[in-house]
Amino acid sequence: GATIGILGGGQLGRMLAMAAANLGYRSHIYAPGESGPATEVSARWTKGAYDDAAAVAAFAAQVAIVTYEFENVGVAALAGLPVLPSPAALDVAQDRLAEKRFVAGLGGTTAPFRAVDSLADLEAALAGIGTPAILKTRRFGYDGKGQARLMDTADAAAAWGSIGGQPAILEGFVRFDAEFSIIAARGADGAIVYWDACTNVHDAGILARTTVPATGVVAEQAEAARALTGRIAEALDYVGVLAVEYFCGVDGPVFNEMAPRVHNSGHWTSEGAITSQFENHIRAICGLPLGDTALAARAVTMDNLVGDQADAWPAILAEGKAHLHLYGKTESRPGRKMGHVTRLEF
Ligand code: ATP
Ligand code: MG
Ligand code: MG
Repeated sequence: GATIGILGGGQLGRMLAMAAANLGYRSHIYAPGESGPATEVSARWTKGAYDDAAAVAAFAAQVAIVTYEFENVGVAALAGLPVLPSPAALDVAQDRLAEKRFVAGLGGTTAPFRAVDSLADLEAALAGIGTPAILKTRRFGYDGKGQARLMDTADAAAAWGSIGGQPAILEGFVRFDAEFSIIAARGADGAIVYWDACTNVHDAGILARTTVPATGVVAEQAEAARALTGRIAEALDYVGVLAVEYFCGVDGPVFNEMAPRVHNSGHWTSEGAITSQFENHIRAICGLPLGDTALAARAVTMDNLVGDQADAWPAILAEGKAHLHLYGKTESRPGRKMGHVTRLEF
């Protein structure tokens, strides 16, 4: 089989490489760090910086198609290369301001937001949006990093200082009953499939648990959220897996953010769906037909193993029916995703 190039060396790349191997493909990882979750299960690994255009182009020349599991690859370095999903999708998703403007332009509902480039901007934005509100860096945030909550306008200077004065966005605080994500895969022929809406619970800004199928308000709002997710994918002429996070607002789904890649809230699909998000991503970027996304069980729960939670792995294995995934990270740190466990109910 051909070789698939993957930008990024983390656990998402590891699971993509394993799905690619099941379909007879080899994987070649490009990542800046030391060996890691993805490099360890791949045929080849090139160490390089994500913004080194010459090195990225040399890497791309050795593979049939390039994809990415890491969102902060310099878009300029990808220009003219065979990359799916297209760098245009990455460009929008890398910037919370561009992303919200784009989705609002498609008729989606977002939290109220304003661009913030200075403390004066933040004070003006607070006057318009009110509190509580959340200040987020436009770029590079993940797992709740690069965010500050403002309960009062007097918090402005401290919040601006805490995110290091980077270009930011102020968002009004959305009162939500639940959080969920819609994970879609769009094929090279434009066909779109969706997995069940994923109900997500976060702990300290990090995804803790995903459950399917949806119940209650998530089930009620899933169809509208799927429709918006489909419009986003169409507008970007997207090929691959796309994940979109939503809040259950009082008047329907509120777009939070999107990820132009496989997503942690879709890890349950490895055992809990007929076809996993990883396999369908590989199928899509290779121009193959997409697999069925239906549930493979009555109910599925995915729990992240963050920091020392992964130390419980012997007890998880002893359950017999739990599906344990450990990412092979040598160093455990608080807040670091070390693995996950999926449990199916029949
Ligand atoms: P991820 O790891 O999912 O990429 P992130 O660092 O990009 O996370 P967000 O998804 O923007 O961060 O926010 C993290 C969490 O903070 C959300 O899942 C939600 O629980 C809460 N949150 C973020 N923005 C808002 C908002 N405008 N109103 C209410 N809660 C919010
Ligand atoms: Mg995010
Ligand atoms: Mg998020």
